Amino acid sequence: MLVTLYGAAKEVTGSCYLVDTGNARVLIDCGLFQGSKHLEKLNFIPASLKPKEIDAVVLTHGHLDHCGRLPLLVKAGYRGKIYGTPGTLDIARLILSDAAKIQCDDADRENRKRARAGQKPIKPLFDARDAEEVFKQFSALPYNNWMEIAPEAKAELVEAGHILGSSSVILVANQNGARRRIIFSGDLGQRNVPITRDPAVIDRCDAVFMESTYGGRNHPSYEETVEELIELVKGAVERGGKILVPTFAVGRTQQLLYHLFKMFESGRVRPFPVFLDSPMAIAATQIYSKHINLLDEDVRDFFARDNMQALLPTLKLCTTAQESQALNAVGGPCLIMAGAGMCDAGRILHHLRHNLSSSETLVLMVGYQAKESFGRRLLDGANPVKIMGDTIHVRARIASVDGFSAHAGQSDLLQWLNPLAKAGTRVILTHGEPHQVNELRHEIENAFNLKPEIPSLNDRLEF
Ligand SMILES: [Zn+2]
Repeated sequence: MLVTLYGAAKEVTGSCYLVDTGNARVLIDCGLFQGSKHLEKLNFIPASLKPKEIDAVVLTHGHLDHCGRLPLLVKAGYRGKIYGTPGTLDIARLILSDAAKIQCDDADRENRKRARAGQKPIKPLFDARDAEEVFKQFSALPYNNWMEIAPEAKAELVEAGHILGSSSVILVANQNGARRRIIFSGDLGQRNVPITRDPAVIDRCDAVFMESTYGGRNHPSYEETVEELIELVKGAVERGGKILVPTFAVGRTQQLLYHLFKMFESGRVRPFPVFLDSPMAIAATQIYSKHINLLDEDVRDFFARDNMQALLPTLKLCTTAQESQALNAVGGPCLIMAGAGMCDAGRILHHLRHNLSSSETLVLMVGYQAKESFGRRLLDGANPVKIMGDTIHVRARIASVDGFSAHAGQSDLLQWLNPLAKAGTRVILTHGEPHQVNELRHEIENAFNLKPEIPSLNDRLEF
């Protein structure tokens, strides 16, 4: 059988694998390339993928870099089922709808520029209607259930511990009487952290495609990260300022809400108003409430429908633009969570514009800030900064806590691989920058005496 890599080879976006057994063609993930103009040029469906001849698609989880090319796949003629856990399908609906809106807004902005320059308009990659077409093909496959998804090919999804609904795929397929068991790790989460469950133990396979986002290092300890968060929040509360937290809607928002609840409940910080100023994050939190059975047992109470507001009574949800604007008049101490997570767009920009010049403000980064993002520039001390045409002198404190990653660090990755790492197992490292992948390969060679492979984009591997 052949597996072709259509993304996430020596980099972290665009996850997409085609498995071809001769009598079955299965696609694992169909993600968007993100991060640079060069990568975005890869956002198309290659002719060799032959969408009309694919039997089934399986999603590992709902992040855009794993599901964002689905609208293109369906537009190119794919009509089969798109499997994922019920949690994954809900998250994917939310994320694809949001992405469609962003694609259209970006295209509108670009087209205004083009109209002024007398150039031809461009089309968005996909719009809300294209996304709706994708949703019609969604088919729920709960965890730990085998499903015949294509001729002589069956799949099972098991917990990956990355975000709500995230899974690794175990694919078993026959080709000319030979049976192959191949694992696709999907994105793996950290072990022993609250909210998401630990990744499942998988103990045998012929080959494993494994992510290596943090293959080169370990995260700071989670307990220390939470302590750091509490100390920063305490300091800002004493100064009476606003705490602005740029967050992605899915995952980090829910983690932070939970830690704020624990902070108040334990009496370590006196409760203050918390504003969730993001319709998308509110919707994502509702998805967490809908699927509390997929969460760690000790957080289920907090996320249970209607419980959150009882347990965190200072939490206010801001849906409308008016509610968001009204926060300008609210004094500190208070905490405002808003997107986008890297400060490049969204409501967080308005809050930054209003509050960066105050020395009482704390901007608290709890997520990854990519190299050229506005969030990274703030962290690196840019001053003054321009926001929506205004020049702002930064007097706010800018801080970051680093240990909240949704990805496993190096030692968790090695531990996940341990039961699979038997003589003869092929290990294929994907979804990582070259430095991270190479470090992980080195560690695997030392720990298990295996020779991991590091394929390139469009490489075809035979099993
Ligand atoms: Zn992910």
